[in-house]
Amino acid sequence: MAQLSDDCFAFAGPLLPVDEAAQLLADRLTVVEGVEDVPVVLADGRILARDLIAPLPLPPFTNSAVDGYAVRGVDLPSGEKKTFALVGRIQAGGGEIVTVGPGEAARVFTGAPMPAGADTVFMQEDVDLTHEGHVILPPGLKRGANARPAGEDVAVGQVVLRAGHRMRPQDVALAAALGQTKIEVRRRIRVAVFSTGNEIVAPGAQRGSTQLFDSNRFMLKSMLARLGCEISDLGILGDDAIATASVIKNAAAEHDLVLTSGGVSTGDADYVKTAVESIGTLVFWRMAIKPGRPVAMGVVGGTPFLGLPGNPVASFVTFVNVARPAIFALSGTQSGPPAAIRLRAAFTYRKKAGRREYVRASLRTAEDGTVEAMKFPREGAGLLSSLVETDGLVELRERITSVEVGETVSFLPYASLL
Ligand code: AMP
Ligand code: MG
Repeated sequence: MAQLSDDCFAFAGPLLPVDEAAQLLADRLTVVEGVEDVPVVLADGRILARDLIAPLPLPPFTNSAVDGYAVRGVDLPSGEKKTFALVGRIQAGGGEIVTVGPGEAARVFTGAPMPAGADTVFMQEDVDLTHEGHVILPPGLKRGANARPAGEDVAVGQVVLRAGHRMRPQDVALAAALGQTKIEVRRRIRVAVFSTGNEIVAPGAQRGSTQLFDSNRFMLKSMLARLGCEISDLGILGDDAIATASVIKNAAAEHDLVLTSGGVSTGDADYVKTAVESIGTLVFWRMAIKPGRPVAMGVVGGTPFLGLPGNPVASFVTFVNVARPAIFALSGTQSGPPAAIRLRAAFTYRKKAGRREYVRASLRTAEDGTVEAMKFPREGAGLLSSLVETDGLVELRERITSVEVGETVSFLPYASLL
């Protein structure tokens, strides 16, 4: 699983800007070896290992887009209604051989192959069926109307999905439409996760009066699952550098990424930092980010290590900014920053220049119809309710020092982050 040399991040500075941290990870982490075939129905969320090339056109044959009557374009009524002789009937899936000649029409249904000679279909609502075996068609239809030519959606030989693409339900549909039963995808990234802190206990265990139930591990595992990772839950480690070192070392040998929360601040109990230093190389990133700040990045036995801060909101925000691009790089998918939506701020805010800040915000539609972001009233990095009760993060870039009501800001919906 070795990915990295121990000193490959050695130049990282003490207060790394967010974009540089993400770029560094994207540049240095390489895609893990290993591909597998999955049934197409299980391909959602997986990363394509190779380009998908259309082995057939879509639609595979020219067909009718409506229930109606197919005619030759050269026969289209111009100026006034015209009567056509009915010469056949083709159902969807039908194999009837019907040829439409001059002055003739064939009854067709949605999805039925176009009869030979015909290229235009009148909707059944627009026609009159007065005489037996005849149909009266109105003027005004364009040649080719209501017919779907073979290949209008996808041409045979076209690259429809690129290697590295993360499959979505619509991509699964396209693969199935092209007759695929299996898809070759990259193997899942193996991530070891644990929490740290003597004060943290697992839900279900006996909680001492000065202890908290672990929430980060559950949040991080849920986020990792959404990114398609294979997760090993290593539980909770006490504030003990030696035990922590041995767990990280073993985990690093068997995983593509080791992810922890807590124990990386500059306080006395920064055991995670000490532990990583004892078994590998630690680049202690004090990232220029709020909430977040302390994020430990290290390399242990060639495997990347990420130590996120313990405060749940800081853990969330740094996961999105550091762990997510790292996982994208390891999975071989494009790790562009999530697309921010520009919308109106309904709050005022002051910040320091040189630091990226994320403001938890809810959306509402103002009276003039514009969507506005409302800041969560409190700012603590430990407030889980601030994540639960909001819709996303307003991203305030390094150069910004203030936000006034009515200004346009960048908003990242939670749904777009995972
Ligand atoms: P630390 O980074 O270890 O100093 O932790 C910062 C804050 O986050 C402390 O108040 C911890 O109790 C809290 N914290 C650390 N880990 C967790 C966790 N797994 N779940 C919930 N809170 C945590
Ligand atoms: Mg701690």
